[in-house]
Amino acid sequence: MTETVELGLLDGFERALINDRLHLVYQPKICLKTGKLVRVEALVRWDDPEFGQVPPSRFVPLAERHGLIDPLTRWGMDAAFHQWHRWRADGIDCGLAFNISAISLKALDFPDLVEAKCEEHLVPPGMLVLELTESATQPLANLLDTLTRFRIKGIGLAIDDFGTGYSSLMQLRQLPFSELKIDRFFINDAVENADSRAIVKAMIDLAHALGISATAEGVETSAQLRLMSEMDCDIAQGYRIARPLEPDALPEWLDAWQRDWEQNCTPSRQAL
Ligand code: C2E
Ligand code: MG
Ligand code: MG
Ligand code: MG
Repeated sequence: MTETVELGLLDGFERALINDRLHLVYQPKICLKTGKLVRVEALVRWDDPEFGQVPPSRFVPLAERHGLIDPLTRWGMDAAFHQWHRWRADGIDCGLAFNISAISLKALDFPDLVEAKCEEHLVPPGMLVLELTESATQPLANLLDTLTRFRIKGIGLAIDDFGTGYSSLMQLRQLPFSELKIDRFFINDAVENADSRAIVKAMIDLAHALGISATAEGVETSAQLRLMSEMDCDIAQGYRIARPLEPDALPEWLDAWQRDWEQNCTPSRQAL
């Protein structure tokens, strides 16, 4: 990106953030033992009149570089916590997962900020899981204190996109994660490719040996869903279950999913 383009986009993003023109979509994560909705992952969307639909892979790094990531996180928590109460009023009880940039974790008081948001919105911290990815410039190492503070407050921590990028066994060994999210790169061809399948199985067993749950992301087909269930994976997420949904679409999806699970995915799993 040239500097002028980046500055234009940055200005547009900042205006969208200030004027509440970003929005969140939510992707369900289901329990592979029961089919029940466990939580939804909040994913930010920016639809701009000038720039069109800008993907988070473009504006999140921009926000990180220009000091806007904490304002984005705060905005996201306000929006998602409001939505959580609306779902509760509709009888939907589920947890929330948030993607947190490693940059935010450099501030020692970040766990207090998250806890304060929970208090402000009357959301129990146990409802929350923070999904963390490492980047080249922001290693997760040395974050033990900060991450431990989250766990003491009852907030879950997931290591996102595990197996790709910079996430490593060392992080898993040193940091108090509660969930391992297997990157969709491995799920993608796990049905056809014995090597990918072996790696996925090893990651699931590794999570269990460490006493934490395993989540498969990017489950796109019925065959992948069945395989993850057979391999004893705990949680699944992906287009086969649901695309990221507008908040109002969650109740209708849940009805349809419960029928889908009972007809196609219960233990005999004949039709899956
Ligand atoms: P992620 O946390 O790994 O999120 C999963 C991404 O995979 C999402 O893309 C989701 O739409 C996509 N996805 C889910 N299921 C499937 C599937 O079955 N097949 C395929 N092909 N894709 C699937 P999205 O929304 O574009 O987000 C990309 C990344 O941007 C996220 O990766 C996350 O790291 C980051 N991100 C999104 N929202 C936020 C946010 O509010 N804050 C921060 N810091 N990062 C965010
Ligand atoms: Mg994530
Ligand atoms: Mg991920
Ligand atoms: Mg990913």
